[in-house]
Amino acid sequence: MPITPTKQIWMDGKFVDWQDAKVHVLSHTLHYGTGAFEGIRAYKTSNGVAIFRLKEHMDRLLRSCRILMIEVPYSLSELCDAAKEVVRVNELYEGCYLRPLVYLGYGELGVNPIGAPVNTAIAAWPWGPYLGDDAAENGARMKISSWARHHPNSMPTGAKSIGGYVNAALAKVEAVMAGYDEAIMLGPDGRVSEGTGENLFLVREGRLVTPPPSEAGALRGITQASVVKIARDLGYEVDFEALRRDDIYLADEAFLTGTAVEVVPLASVDDRPVGDGKPGPITGAIKTTYHQTVRGERPQYEEWLARVDRPSER
Ligand code: PMP
Repeated sequence: MPITPTKQIWMDGKFVDWQDAKVHVLSHTLHYGTGAFEGIRAYKTSNGVAIFRLKEHMDRLLRSCRILMIEVPYSLSELCDAAKEVVRVNELYEGCYLRPLVYLGYGELGVNPIGAPVNTAIAAWPWGPYLGDDAAENGARMKISSWARHHPNSMPTGAKSIGGYVNAALAKVEAVMAGYDEAIMLGPDGRVSEGTGENLFLVREGRLVTPPPSEAGALRGITQASVVKIARDLGYEVDFEALRRDDIYLADEAFLTGTAVEVVPLASVDDRPVGDGKPGPITGAIKTTYHQTVRGERPQYEEWLARVDRPSER
């Protein structure tokens, strides 16, 4: 997923030119993975660009930092305003991906993070489908990882912590090197947890099931929550249910949800086709509705959209 440079990155309240947005090599986070981040998408709508569920993402960033005992020197509304300004300054009116990051900077070294300066940055750039066009269209080929998701007493799985993604990266590399698109991770108890950057839904006899995030040691996905609401509004029953790997093998349909991935059907898991191996009708309905929702084509979800005015409209 190459990055397309844009003009400027927001760093600690100031806009810095893209090529000058640098950190010192002795920054605490670079050594110990201390910090948290978010991934947010903004979409073009018929009424200008809108950031999808901005408040919920920034709220999760603050909560992740709270778990890590990192005090972010910006309020929720300041972070939301900064994100909108990043879209505006970079003229990303066709939509983009936003990456807010809270990291510990230069000043202290040693495992104890207390006392290291807290830095905050928000970057944005245009970004395509996370698992590529083919997986988005025809379904992703998944592998159950040999790497287990963290035990919640090893790493707080409810925080989107920077260091936590070493675990995800190990699983991702294993899956990709073996020829798959993405990994599904099981928790330390053997139950299904999540993808390396996505939550998982199964469809069984017309009903949707997804692992309950805290029990499964999965991130509480904002897309997962949006899809639960959308699916129920479409008339589907949705349950949070602990799942084992054979539940995935026997699902009629399955799909991933996440900001980056959006809604992507699963074609196979461990070389077993999901259903008939083609994206199923319920997955299709959810995917279509989600795509319409983020683009402002479903007025009942308007409150999920943080609209970004152009400077001339302000
Ligand atoms: N699980 C993990 C491990 C993730 O990194 C992500 C992406 N943030 C998700 C689930 C999906 O979360 P969301 O829908 O809020 O993007």
